[in-house]
Amino acid sequence: SSKKDTPFKQGCNNINEYLSNPEYKKQKAAFVMLTRNQEIEDVIKTLENIEIRFNQWFQYPYVFLNDEPFDELFQSEVLKTVSVDISKVKFGVLDVESEWNFKDEDVLEKNQEINVYLKDQEDRGLLYGGLKSYHKMCRFYSGFFQDNELLKEYDYYWRIEPDVKFYCDLTYDPFFEMKKANKKYGFTILISELYWTIPSLFRYTKTFINNKIKKDPKFKVGTLWNLFIKDFKVLKVNYNRNPHQNDHNVLDKFINNEHELDGELSRYVEMKHFLNNKEKLSSDKSLKEEYKKGLLETLKFAKKVPKIYDDKFFNEEFNLCHFWSNFEIASLDLFRSETYKEYFEFLDLKSGFTKERFGDAPVHTLGLAMLLNLEDVHYFRDIAYSHSSLTHCVKNDPVTGNLKNDPGQWFLENRWQNYKYYPYSKVNVIKQQAISGFRR
Ligand code: GDP
Ligand code: MN
Repeated sequence: SSKKDTPFKQGCNNINEYLSNPEYKKQKAAFVMLTRNQEIEDVIKTLENIEIRFNQWFQYPYVFLNDEPFDELFQSEVLKTVSVDISKVKFGVLDVESEWNFKDEDVLEKNQEINVYLKDQEDRGLLYGGLKSYHKMCRFYSGFFQDNELLKEYDYYWRIEPDVKFYCDLTYDPFFEMKKANKKYGFTILISELYWTIPSLFRYTKTFINNKIKKDPKFKVGTLWNLFIKDFKVLKVNYNRNPHQNDHNVLDKFINNEHELDGELSRYVEMKHFLNNKEKLSSDKSLKEEYKKGLLETLKFAKKVPKIYDDKFFNEEFNLCHFWSNFEIASLDLFRSETYKEYFEFLDLKSGFTKERFGDAPVHTLGLAMLLNLEDVHYFRDIAYSHSSLTHCVKNDPVTGNLKNDPGQWFLENRWQNYKYYPYSKVNVIKQQAISGFRR
């Protein structure tokens, strides 16, 4: 039902023609990079690349942010590298008290609470678990960047990081094209989150939404939401294919109590879901009976379980899939909206950025998921991009230059299912293998 999301342009544009088209309008937009003085070498790599691939033609401004002042060397190296006028490069220092430090940080420090949280995460082997600055970075990008003083004048941003690489020339203005197509958020890579960095995120998110609905009964999550919950369709698909084998399995496991608490609960939900969809029920009476029996057993079990989920979203679980936020081209208004801000404050109040290590990527993703519909999101499948271990490759037909075999299209048209196979990005692809119709 949703409109197809397709690349804005194919092939290489004549830049002068593109820019002088009377329809074209430069947007209030900027590159944004939070970084540290010691990362200057990798910052320069990113800037050289983005200038060659895009900004030498489009001349968008840069905003550099840091929790400490940028030193002379950092600033002069940056200014030497970019093609834009010096007036288009801003170096900002965060207001550490309001934009960087945790709420009541002095109290947390004084009674050692913060160290206990971080030590615990470190001991459990969580990536960056014990690193206070990393938690602060995630919190900053989750809830504060959009309101930074230096971003006030902008409607859109393109987030970049030290040592990112773009493999193809981008010969159109992504801000303008997004505006034209009414797209609010653009991504290149989706990945699965490390579960133990966000064990409570989804539960809090559901609670937030339930609270919101209580206050405003008309509030509804966007259709994007559906992409980030586990898909019970899987069960039905299996059922259709091989009903007896599959269902016996489910029941056996259930009866033998092989599941953990959460698994048991979701089993209950699956059965309830199944029974509620009467039209999908098999005409096989005995199977139906078995399901009913299973449901009754499960209900007995569920009664013993403390009710930790709200009813409305009882049957939904996060599939851990999220937009990889080191690349984002998006509307700032999204993150400035009242709902998003309330959502961030709720998570912050629950200490998600200290007791756990909520990443800005899953926070953005779920925040957007409740606000946006599928068609508001653009998959920049034509932007070949890499950062650390992940690369997004552009698939071009060598003859026509058209994109083909495009798994991202599949994503936008179907619900997320096999997310653990990273279908939209190539993991650890050798960088030189990125191919594009408009490579220089
Ligand atoms: P990763 O991509 O998840 O491994 O995280 P990074 O270390 O790349 O951090 C994400 C972004 O935040 C990068 O642009 C970093 O330069 C920046 N960053 C991370 N920690 C800090 C910090 O303590 N201070 C500042 N100023 N920037 C930081
Ligand atoms: Mn990074």
